Amino acid sequence: MNWQEIDKKHVWHPYNSLPSKTSILPVVKTDKTKIFLDDGSELIDGMSSWWSAIHGYNNEKLNDALKKQVDIMPHIMFGGLSHEKAAILSKQLCELTGLNSVFLCDSGSVSVEVALKTAIQYQEAQGKKRYKFISLEHAYHGDTLAAMSVCDPQNSMHSIYGSYLPKHIFTKAPEIGFDSDCSESIKALEECVEKHQKECAGIIIEPIVQGAGGMRIYNPSYVKKVRELCDKYELIMIADEIATGFGHTGKMFACQWADVKPDIMTVGKALTGGYMTMAAMITSKNISDTISNSKLGALMHGPTFMGNPLACSVAIESINLLTQMDWKSKVNNIEKIFSEELEKAKGLKLVKSVRNIGVIGVIELKDNSHAQYIQDYCVQKGVWIRPFGKLIYSIVAYIISEDELRKVVKTMVEAISNIKS
Ligand SMILES: *Cc1c(COP(=O)(O)O)cnc(C)c1O
Repeated sequence: MNWQEIDKKHVWHPYNSLPSKTSILPVVKTDKTKIFLDDGSELIDGMSSWWSAIHGYNNEKLNDALKKQVDIMPHIMFGGLSHEKAAILSKQLCELTGLNSVFLCDSGSVSVEVALKTAIQYQEAQGKKRYKFISLEHAYHGDTLAAMSVCDPQNSMHSIYGSYLPKHIFTKAPEIGFDSDCSESIKALEECVEKHQKECAGIIIEPIVQGAGGMRIYNPSYVKKVRELCDKYELIMIADEIATGFGHTGKMFACQWADVKPDIMTVGKALTGGYMTMAAMITSKNISDTISNSKLGALMHGPTFMGNPLACSVAIESINLLTQMDWKSKVNNIEKIFSEELEKAKGLKLVKSVRNIGVIGVIELKDNSHAQYIQDYCVQKGVWIRPFGKLIYSIVAYIISEDELRKVVKTMVEAISNIKS
């Protein structure tokens, strides 16, 4: 049996049947912004492996960091033991975020789980029994059960899991558009918080861009309002920057568009430059002090692979690469090209709207029946994107060339204009 037959027979893919009813492409190699398939063809990567490969694939410095670390110490348990790479990475994360206390864990969803537990423990430490969270419609915070419970109930199909999921409180998502008037959603938020504050531990948001739940770019004043309300009612503000973090929106963290510091931030995806699975929950000193000085006196979480040295070593190097290059002008340049090329999709019959910020470009269609055709067309033309439903979008590595980026967007637009409706 060749490996592709084994894959078909035995291997689950994300949100899929087994075997998959749609084609799964066999990748044999990656390099920089290229994906090589086993039939010898190559694709320009328009997804950066789900927001993670910000420096592209096989970056020499990242590869070296991993090769060096594997000879020194591939892994060591984190309970009662520590190592230099975890300390260095945590210091970097504190300096970048202005926060103080770092919990290193396995994946984005797990960091959201830990963030929710931390917020509950913080409230509990002050004698407050608060087990609910306020979240937004269209939110996406991960696939594990607690993370799912703060995802948009419709998008993440809460009903499949019946009464298993805790019921949280959802408020109207901010209106789409960085400069859009968001007074209505802010009013809804204020009312929601006033009504529910006594039962809530915190508010969780994806600042500036709601990712997988709709690729919705919104006004920073909404983020400011979340901060204000959290301060007023002593709620924990959780900023889930797993998708937006490390420069994707043109700021190192999207909260910075609103000049706001959350109490808890989650990061993941680009943390290791897309090399290893790792995420982090980062909190203020007040939160870690309050939990540590409480009766229980400990944050109750501890995954087996916490602080994995391989992941830490490549994360350190990825952050070094990022902070040592002029990433802002690269991201701004990418944003400009996205704006120019997406403009050409605006008049098309199937297109509802286009939007972009930083390295993120989105075309929203009027209906969701064309995703597969568009993906197949792009692959045929040498471009890798993976639309979901109505959303045809691209997130690119900061090293992508102008020609490559223009080709990615032009091909997306071409695919859409080809469809006869
Ligand atoms: C991807 C994502 C997650 C989940 O991260 P995983 O590593 O896939 O578990 C959580 N929140 C946001 C905003 C994300 O984009």
